[in-house]
Formats: sequence, structure tokens, C-alpha cells
Amino acid sequence: MICRLCLDPGISEDFFRNNGLDLCAACFRLDPTPVLVERGVGVVWNDTQSHRLLDVLNVVTKPSLNLDLGRSFHARITLPEVPHLSFKFVPETLIHKAGKWIRDEPEVGDLIFDKRVYVRTETPDELRKYLAEDGVQSSILSLFSNVVANNKTNSVSLLGSVLEVCVHKAERQDIFNEQKLKLDVVGLILPLLNSEP
Ligand SMILES: [Zn+2]
Repeated sequence: MICRLCLDPGISEDFFRNNGLDLCAACFRLDPTPVLVERGVGVVWNDTQSHRLLDVLNVVTKPSLNLDLGRSFHARITLPEVPHLSFKFVPETLIHKAGKWIRDEPEVGDLIFDKRVYVRTETPDELRKYLAEDGVQSSILSLFSNVVANNKTNSVSLLGSVLEVCVHKAERQDIFNEQKLKLDVVGLILPLLNSEP
């Protein structure tokens, strides 16, 4: 078996499945940043001031006002090559559902995905191929699980060589799992990389 992230072969007992992708123990447990950088990917996690501010606000206001603003996660990924693909995914809302029939949204044949995720793209054929890749749909569904409803900044987008992920999880800070979120992002990146070791 070969690890989908570091491309190292290993013993089968040392492999873990995440969003349908086989990862070696090290890639499953450790920060994926060094391996991604080695594969030519630019990685910035949680870089924006606004997200830091939200997290600070959350810590400051939660005890007194009992507000659950959750916690934000942001990733800005620069791919080594510009893919022939662009998209924006957002969690589906009632407003999107109402407008769906007049929009040109590609249905991807997976009911759960179509119900939960709203898709905009300029490259529908390439998007269908991308969504058929191992791990892509599960990674997006995982990123959008437990997000703060109707937060307009929840999105996963690819424009040029830049993949941007922004989610506000309606979870308490102690449950927030940054490693899992990073592996969800890895699931979106891997099909866009050259698979040569
Ligand atoms: Zn690995």
C-alpha cells in the first residue's frame, strides 16, 4: 500500500483511512504541512486577522453572554500548477435551494452531496471529474459539517492556483480538531497534484 500524501510505501497495518484515502501513520497523525511543501504546495493556515478576531471574541464573550460563535478555520493553499478547474462550494441554504432551478448548477449524482453543498463553477466538466476523485466529496462534507448556519464566509473555492477554505465550526473549542480539518484540506489537494512520487 502507498500513502496518498507522502507517497511512501509502508506496512498495511500502519495505514489509516481518512475520507476514503489511505494515509500512513505519520501522515495521519502529524501536521501535513512539511509533506505538502515537499510536494510543491504553498500552505498558510489561519492567516487572516478577522478569523483571529473571531476566535478572540469567542473566548472573551462566551463565558459572560453564553454566545457560541464556534471557532474558525482558514487555509490558503497555492498549488504548484494552475489546474483547468475553478469552483466555489458553500453549504446549501434555503435561499440557494429556491433559486436552484434558474441556476446552472451541475448535479453530481450524489443526493447527499447535492442536498448539502451548493456549487458554482465555470468548468462543469472538469468539476464532475474532480468530484468523482477519491476523498473529494467526503472532504467537503466533513469541512461543512457542524458549521455555523448562514455564516456567509463558509466556503471552499479554487481560483487559478489558489485553493481557499474558510469554515466556522459551531463546536466548542475543546472539540475543534485542527488535524482533522487539515486532513480534509489534504483530501481536496491530492487529486490536483501530480501523482508521480
Ligand atoms: Zn504518509
